[in-house]
Amino acid sequence: MPPMKRIVMKFGGTSVASPAHIRDVAAIVKTVWATGVDVAVVVSAMGHETDRLDDLAQTMGTKSGSPEYDAILAVGEQVTAPCLALALQEIDVPARSWCGWQLPIMTTSRFGTARVESIEGQGLIDDFHARRTVAIVTGFQGIDAQHRITTLGRGGSDLSAVLLAAAIQADRCDIYTDVDGVYTSDPRIVRQAVRLKTIGFEEMLELAALGANVLQARSVNAARNHRVPLRVRSTFKPDDEGTIVSGILTQTASSDEDPPMELRKVTGIAHERNQAKITCRNIKDAPGMAARVFGPLSEGGIIVDMIVQTASVDGETTDITFTIPRKDAEETVDILKRNDIPESHIIVDRNVAKISIVGAGMTTSAGVAATIFEVLAERSINVEVISTSEIKVSVLISEDYGELALRALHHALIENGA
Ligand code: ADP
Ligand code: ASP
Ligand code: MG
Repeated sequence: MPPMKRIVMKFGGTSVASPAHIRDVAAIVKTVWATGVDVAVVVSAMGHETDRLDDLAQTMGTKSGSPEYDAILAVGEQVTAPCLALALQEIDVPARSWCGWQLPIMTTSRFGTARVESIEGQGLIDDFHARRTVAIVTGFQGIDAQHRITTLGRGGSDLSAVLLAAAIQADRCDIYTDVDGVYTSDPRIVRQAVRLKTIGFEEMLELAALGANVLQARSVNAARNHRVPLRVRSTFKPDDEGTIVSGILTQTASSDEDPPMELRKVTGIAHERNQAKITCRNIKDAPGMAARVFGPLSEGGIIVDMIVQTASVDGETTDITFTIPRKDAEETVDILKRNDIPESHIIVDRNVAKISIVGAGMTTSAGVAATIFEVLAERSINVEVISTSEIKVSVLISEDYGELALRALHHALIENGA
């Protein structure tokens, strides 16, 4: 392999939570920079600062989707970047901070979930050449054509890092976080979760989109599209190799004692709490009715995930059930009411959790779905909605049983090597 020349290192909120943490991060960056590699760093806001800014914005009467909301939310990263630049200068590493708008990182005007259109990386590259200056770039934000600050969606610093790596032709993008890699399930909930040495983009994308927030799903997609080699590793164990996310499909456990992961059908199990289930009852069973429900929701920017339509018993009416992000529940009901679905026909259940079993190996092997239903039935857990794709099975259950189901399924499908 040719020697690495340029790298993007991204540090998440927990990694930069205090001045002491920021100094530790500076030391990690210095170690890499001292090997002669060009370094660009992407930073998140300190600790839970973005949550605090979100509360503040809401108190001031604005919410996601407005320009001033984005201008408030973007501030967190704008504090971390200069702090890290100072911490590097303190240890004799030339460094400067960049806000997204200064590069610039140009985005669409879709406030709250803006899409990156281009990144101008030449300023960074000129600095690398002139003085080997480390560039510290604010994650999560850019600027639109009207010069308004935009944000890229929660967890969006991962995306900033991957796209910056593509823009400056970095050899690799390392995501430093508070766990030492990608596990078969959230290690904070499932103690038996096994760390993966490598994971394919497709499986990582499914896991991330279905609740494994160790990487933002859009960043995985961007890494796949731009062929950016991606690694998830720990800020608190910086010498550890972590997990490589790449184009390969098989994966092996990180230690010799672990079971051979490549024989497994299931790679990981994700868990998502922030869902709501909507049921529209007694909908006329006629062509075009589903479009009448889902068309306006899509126009309203509501992401609908699992959908089931019950078979009509009387040939005249049917029920349609679907899931949405919980935060959109009220708006969804408003939209449905505006589209002539009476409120008395709409049932909202916020007490649901989605568990998703992901594995490229499921495509070629039978039996995973049967095991899932057996495991849940043994614990009297009712499956409310099911959806499948080639490499995943998702089930919606009561949130009360979410963690129990997650551990039981992990035991049956991963620890026992289904
Ligand atoms: P950061 O602030 O560094 O971006 P995040 O909180 O966004 O960190 O992501 C790291 C967290 O992701 C971990 O603390 C862990 O609880 C959670 N997580 C969920 N699923 C997984 C998984 N499959 N493997 C590793 N971590 C996971
Ligand atoms: N600070 C932002 C958030 O908390 C972006 C990020 O950390 O990735 O969502
Ligand atoms: Mg994150």
